[in-house]
Amino acid sequence: MKTLKTLTLMGAMLAGTAAFAQERFITIGTGGQTGVYFVVGQSICRLVNRDSATNGLKCTAPSTGGSIANINAIKAGDMDMGVAQSDWQYHAYNGTSQFEGDKFDKERAVFSVHGEPFTVIARKDANIGDFDDLKGKRVNVGNPGSGQLATMEVVLDAKGWTMDDFALASELKPAEQAAALGDNKVDAIIYTVGHPNGSIQEAVSTVDASIVPVTGEAIDKLIADNPFYATATIPGGMYKGTDDDVTTFGVKATFVTSSDVPDDVIYAVVKAVFDNFDRFKKLHPAFENLKEEEMIKDGLSAPLHPGAEKYYKERGWM
Ligand code: GLU
Repeated sequence: MKTLKTLTLMGAMLAGTAAFAQERFITIGTGGQTGVYFVVGQSICRLVNRDSATNGLKCTAPSTGGSIANINAIKAGDMDMGVAQSDWQYHAYNGTSQFEGDKFDKERAVFSVHGEPFTVIARKDANIGDFDDLKGKRVNVGNPGSGQLATMEVVLDAKGWTMDDFALASELKPAEQAAALGDNKVDAIIYTVGHPNGSIQEAVSTVDASIVPVTGEAIDKLIADNPFYATATIPGGMYKGTDDDVTTFGVKATFVTSSDVPDDVIYAVVKAVFDNFDRFKKLHPAFENLKEEEMIKDGLSAPLHPGAEKYYKERGWM
């Protein structure tokens, strides 16, 4: 015979199960902990989780390898959403470049975020004045799965170079690259990233280093031939050792998902961000100048997810 205590306990368990069934766990792919993607994911989750009682979502944003790793994880259904460079959003959806033969038809765009200049930072004692001076040097080209490694390969290809043109092409993660530069294990690091960021701040605080320009014919052609590349400027004075503006090219950080993720989930995520947009913009200096009307179109090449479109239409933005 069941005691009253047992029945009460069962009741509590049933109630617990009912509440749990309405809760949905969502995961956002980010990047290295010293980059900006990690802050994008953490910021979105913070806003989504503030509304958990009404949207039923529990959001987490773990550190990952970056753009390519995130797109592949979303495609495999291992993650729901992620941050990815606009060039790799484009190539994944169109099945081009690294995604040739591996088209991600179900890729959907949600919004774009900050600009990401292709950034080369070099030790001052390595005498590297521009990208061409990297020939024969020890360069951290980016970890596997990162947008910077993939975009670096595009740049090398455009210039007719290969990884063999470097004395060393290391694949350290953002969290390790600053120390490698400081310890003189590499002469330069490549990072496609928003500014300011922790990794470069750490690098310039341990060694005399500066950001060098990435310009010239091959880069001009990349910009002319591809809608997702544009000239970019890294403002002088942002980092110790770089007082003048530096010209390079860049992409946008974008937020992507899959058509398999339900409309109400994406709607709730987008609503959490844009209903609290002033709060969101304060979460990182790279978000300071974001504008809603640009975020819903710039850098997006995959179709908009219907859950996002619904919210943008409600706000009268499209
Ligand atoms: N753009 C880099 C990537 O795609 C990540 C930069 C960051 O973590 O902020 O891997």
